[in-house]
Amino acid sequence: MNKRSGMCCFLSAVSLVVCLAGAAAAQSQSPSITAIKAGRLIDPESGTAATNQVILIEGEKIKAVGANLAIPAGATVLDLSKLTVLPGLVDAHTHMAITYKEQPENNYYYLTYVMDSTALRAIQAASNGIQLLNAGFTVIRDVGNNGLYADVALRQAIEQGWLPGPTVIPSGIIIGGTGGQFWPTPEMYKQHNIVYPEYLDANTPEEIIRAVRENMLFGARTIKLCIDCKPWGYSVDEIKLAISEAAKGGCKVDGHVQTPEGAQRAIDAGIYIISHGNALTPEHHRQMGAKGIFLAGTDTPFTKYRGNENAFKQTVAKLRDAWEKKVPLTFSTDLDYWNERMKDEKNGEWLSRGDLTIAFLDTWKAAGIPPADILRAITVNGYKAADVIKERGPIKPGFFADLIAVSGDPLTDIDALRNVQFVMKNGMVFKKDGAMMPEKSFHPGPVRIPSGRYTR
Ligand SMILES: [Zn+2]
Repeated sequence: MNKRSGMCCFLSAVSLVVCLAGAAAAQSQSPSITAIKAGRLIDPESGTAATNQVILIEGEKIKAVGANLAIPAGATVLDLSKLTVLPGLVDAHTHMAITYKEQPENNYYYLTYVMDSTALRAIQAASNGIQLLNAGFTVIRDVGNNGLYADVALRQAIEQGWLPGPTVIPSGIIIGGTGGQFWPTPEMYKQHNIVYPEYLDANTPEEIIRAVRENMLFGARTIKLCIDCKPWGYSVDEIKLAISEAAKGGCKVDGHVQTPEGAQRAIDAGIYIISHGNALTPEHHRQMGAKGIFLAGTDTPFTKYRGNENAFKQTVAKLRDAWEKKVPLTFSTDLDYWNERMKDEKNGEWLSRGDLTIAFLDTWKAAGIPPADILRAITVNGYKAADVIKERGPIKPGFFADLIAVSGDPLTDIDALRNVQFVMKNGMVFKKDGAMMPEKSFHPGPVRIPSGRYTR
């Protein structure tokens, strides 16, 4: 038997096992039906709400939505008639598997990276995922600084059913020119290869292709480039090369931008998302609006635990200008830090990762952006930026059943999103009556055929 026919036999054996497993699953249990009675159902795309809707869910997906749907006998009925139902929320730029702190590293994440193993960081990421799902976030883009692919592992673990969490769009390792965002010493760089695995050095066209392919091989669903982390940042042609290589694996490119020149190169190359709004000028906003380039501005609010008044004023003004110029805005945080002041001012309790994330609404409110537009940014634009819009997000037949419910009306009062009462992910209830009920979301083994590194 030569190698080739051996591989064919192996593949047919695998597909036979997969088919048999699928048939067995179909025979043993027909998918359960859940009917949600929604008092109000928001469509963030149009910024409208319909009253007294029924959402039928079969297994993991939405089967039908409407006012006069018959509820099948035997369906589990969830009465949310006093609540407003809407699609799950998206943080379009976050970091699940790094937490830099004041103690002991003085907020210097180079030290966090040296002191915290990828394994520890992966467990932090799992905890962060549960906290974010509890706050209503059903999709997150996790864009680097996750050690050795802890972001991909988190996606796989959630997808396989080990634990609850949002759908994770991992970038794998951030690709940059020599050094990434670090300024290491010669001995640490040359003798200890310290930049990897926080950054993948890629300095030539060949290295850029290799780095993009390597990330996709290890499970990345988006590609993150350091456009201008160093004075030797990427040229327009180099960014274009990364975009075309990423497209072969179905990935869009997100550029970390910190200078006006870098922003212009990213825009000229036709990048999909620009991360960080600080360096963008009104002219950049105009071009991004015209080209439909997403902005993940990472618009940090000024709070007791983070930020300062001047920086906040500038952030607010830039977000406002981007909105006026019709840039496709996403809700994004860049959360990768923690400190001892992150407590609720009223009751002194720790703020959860979900609380800290949704607090970014402060910046959007300060910019005077209407609730319907904020809602679009934190839902529809997030699904588009995460490139999941064809299967996940909108509450429509055929889509995964990811939805949340809140008291009040986020179309008039966006702060309603701060108190999520109900969360459903992939058709499974994760939170009800304001309390997590995750027992069924933890399994002692993978409940789905593994994907990610194995299939796309
Ligand atoms: Zn970031």
